[in-house]
Amino acid sequence: MESRILPVDGWSKVVHFTDKDSGLEAIISVHDATLGPACGGCRIFPYASFEAGLEDVKNLSRGMTYKNALGGIPFGGGKAVIFADPKKDKSPEMLRAFGNAVNSLDGLYYTAEDSGVSEDDMKTIQSVTKYAAGIHAQGVGGNPSPFTSRGVWRGMQAAARQKFGADSLKGLTVSILGVGAVGMELARLINEEGGHLVVADVNDAAVAEAVKRFDAKAVSPEDAIAADVDIFSPCALGGSINVDTIDQIKAKVIAGAANNQLKTPDMDEALHARGILYCPDYVINAAGVISVGLEILGTWTNDEMNRRIDKIGDTLTEIFKRADAENAPTGAVADRLAMEVIENKKAE
Ligand code: NAD
Repeated sequence: MESRILPVDGWSKVVHFTDKDSGLEAIISVHDATLGPACGGCRIFPYASFEAGLEDVKNLSRGMTYKNALGGIPFGGGKAVIFADPKKDKSPEMLRAFGNAVNSLDGLYYTAEDSGVSEDDMKTIQSVTKYAAGIHAQGVGGNPSPFTSRGVWRGMQAAARQKFGADSLKGLTVSILGVGAVGMELARLINEEGGHLVVADVNDAAVAEAVKRFDAKAVSPEDAIAADVDIFSPCALGGSINVDTIDQIKAKVIAGAANNQLKTPDMDEALHARGILYCPDYVINAAGVISVGLEILGTWTNDEMNRRIDKIGDTLTEIFKRADAENAPTGAVADRLAMEVIENKKAE
C-alpha cells in the first residue's frame, strides 16, 4: 500500500492511500482532532475525479468536527472516502486494505458506516483494525433511527418553546416529509403528545400507515413543504430547502432529521430573513454519532443515550438564544458555537 500526505490548509491530516493488489484508492481526512481522535463514516462512491472526492471528504470531515463538538462527545472530525462503485467494485480485499489504511494512522481516525458501506462491510474492516465503530456488537448501539427520532422530537420541542412559547407540541401541526425509519417514529412521538400531522412520502404504504396510526393528513411531497403548518420536518433526502421552495414554506419552524437540508449555504440567511427558525440539521440529528461515540468509549447504555439525546434540546436552545441576541442565522451560530467548544479545549 502506498500513502502520501496531501497538504491541505486548515485540515489536521489528509492522507491519500492506493493499493494496487486490492484496487483500493481512498482518502482519509482528519479535519480537527482537538477534542479527541477524529470520528466519522467511510463513504464508497464512484467520484468523477480525484478532486471531487477530495472536496467531498474535506467538507464532510469539517462537518463532523462541528457535529461531534455540539453532540458533546470527545471526538474530532474525520471522514473517509473510497473511490469505487459500491455495487460493482467493492471486495473484501479492498475493505481489508482500507482497514489497514485506518490502522496506519494509529488511532487518529475511527471509521464507521456511511453510504455504500454495510454492517457486514464494517465487520470485514474490523477484522483488521480496532479503529472501526458502529458494528453493534453484543447488542450495543444497534439501529440508531429511534434515537434520531427522539433527538429530533426533543429539538422540535425546544424550537416550539422558542418560537411559539409552547410547553409541548400539543395542538401544533407538523408536516413530515419522509415517513421512513426516523420520520415514522417521530410521527408517533408527536401524535402521542397531542400534535397534528401532515405527511408525505414517495412510498404509499408508509403514508397509509401514518394516516391509519396517527390520523395524519396525506399530501404530496411538494405540498408537505408548502403546507400551512407550524413546523416543517424534512426527514427524507437533503436539499429540500432551496431557491425554488423557500418562498413556499409557511411553517415558522424547521426541525427534521435529513442531512444537508439546505441545498446551498445562503439558505441559512434566507430562512433567518423570513423569520423561520431553523434547527441546524447536524445538531438536531446527532443521535447516530452520539451512539457511535459511546460505543467507542465503551459507555453505551440505553439510559446514557437518552440522557445525551435529551441535551440536544438544550444545545438548540442555546443556539436560538444566541441567534436572537445577535440577530444572526442559526446555522452560522451553530458553527461558531462548535468552534468555541474546540477553542476552549485548546485553551485548557
Ligand atoms: P429512510 O430511508 O428509512 O426514510 C426516508 C423516507 O423518505 C423513505 O420512506 C422514503 O420513501 C422517503 N423519500 C425518499 N425520497 C423522497 C422524496 N423525494 N419525497 C418524499 N419522500 C421521500 O431513512 P431514515 O433512516 O428515516 O433517514 C431519514 C433522513 O435522516 C435521511 O436523510 C438520513 O440521512 C437522515 N439521518 C438519519 C439518521 C438515522 O439514524 N437513521 C441519522 C442522521 C440523519
